[in-house]
Amino acid sequence: MKVFKFGGASVKDAEAVKNIASILEGFRKEKLVMVVSAMGKTTNALEALVESHFHQKTDLQEKFDKLKLFHLNVCSCLFNSSGLAIIQKELESLFTELEAVLNKDAVDNYNFEYAQIVCFGELLSTKIIAIYLKENGMQVEWVDARKVIKTDHNYREGQIDWEATIRNTEQTISPLLHKDTLIITQGFIGSTFENLSTTLGREGSDYTAAILGAILNAEHVAVWKDVPGILNADPKRFNFAKKIPKLSYKEAIEMTYYGAKVLHPKTIKPLENKGIPLLVKSFLDSNEEGTVIEAIEQELLYPPITIVEPNQILLSIYTTDFSFVSENDISRIFKVCSKHNVRVNMMQNKAISMNLCCTNKGYMIEPLVKELKKDFKVEYTSGLDLLTIRHYNIELIYELSKSREIIMEQKSENTYQFVTKTIT
Ligand code: ASP
Ligand code: MG
Repeated sequence: MKVFKFGGASVKDAEAVKNIASILEGFRKEKLVMVVSAMGKTTNALEALVESHFHQKTDLQEKFDKLKLFHLNVCSCLFNSSGLAIIQKELESLFTELEAVLNKDAVDNYNFEYAQIVCFGELLSTKIIAIYLKENGMQVEWVDARKVIKTDHNYREGQIDWEATIRNTEQTISPLLHKDTLIITQGFIGSTFENLSTTLGREGSDYTAAILGAILNAEHVAVWKDVPGILNADPKRFNFAKKIPKLSYKEAIEMTYYGAKVLHPKTIKPLENKGIPLLVKSFLDSNEEGTVIEAIEQELLYPPITIVEPNQILLSIYTTDFSFVSENDISRIFKVCSKHNVRVNMMQNKAISMNLCCTNKGYMIEPLVKELKKDFKVEYTSGLDLLTIRHYNIELIYELSKSREIIMEQKSENTYQFVTKTIT
């Protein structure tokens, strides 16, 4: 069997959904599990809805109506009148559920409210696609991923409860694979053991596909994107971007570690552990080869790979009494980072300060800084980018840094990194 993941861009409108249906035509004989994201920018719209709900803003209804209208409009371009009646009923019931969440007063836990609302993006998209495929003569089984993917109570970036998830996958999905049916489920969402919705972190649908692929021992997992495969740079930023046909798991995990957005960082590990290849393919040209990520004995030669991680903050953490930063201080700083789930993307220690470069997620950084300030003096600079060049050469370093002010830099055998002000 194979697992296919379709991201937001691949289901952004009615035309995109039709395109997916035609890709699937070529796989009619296959046993397939299809993992789907929310349509287009729906997750952003839902995040805005969470803001309005949590802070009791007056634009809540307007945002809700817009979201509903968007999905209904997509449906009106996809379905004939009998199909439309079926999908409208399904969507109505999901929107009623969402309204019930919004009508309740928010509890004092933003991330909890976040997950209860944001999960609807994937529920809506998968309902629309499942019914559209059925209307077009395919046999489809819609599975609620929250009954399969179990997590802890970290509502916004849930950690997988593997034991429960394996059990549920084997009980719910495996039997369906024996029927001749396409299985469609949501990426990115899961639930706690009490069935409260959780999410796996933004762009987490890749991770869902990898989890299911690993548990079901898939032949491969394919992630369908709007790019021809994995490129050595973001084509929206750099004109030298070109496809890398083959990558080792190791190189791919390094790329995601340094912030390559093409895959969710947690995607590679479960697949590597089982030796399952990951294909990155273009939904715009499904016959193209794409990129294959798999076990490779002798590491390949790669072109320079440039990764930009935007929205960085540099925390400069000082001792309060002009004493050196001790190992004990460092250990305390990292304990606090770990407590607040803040990942350090790059660091440097100096005599009386320690510099940490982190992604500026306010909901994590604010409590972190507050706690650090109990023991240290903390200064910060935001509006930064972290640039990483794997397999660098001097010419490229010069080219990328010549018009930028370098705030912090580091070089190792394979990797060159620097922090710089975001160019706007
Ligand atoms: N819809 C979610 C997001 O936009 C998950 C995903 O697309 O993978 O972050
Ligand atoms: Mg998305």
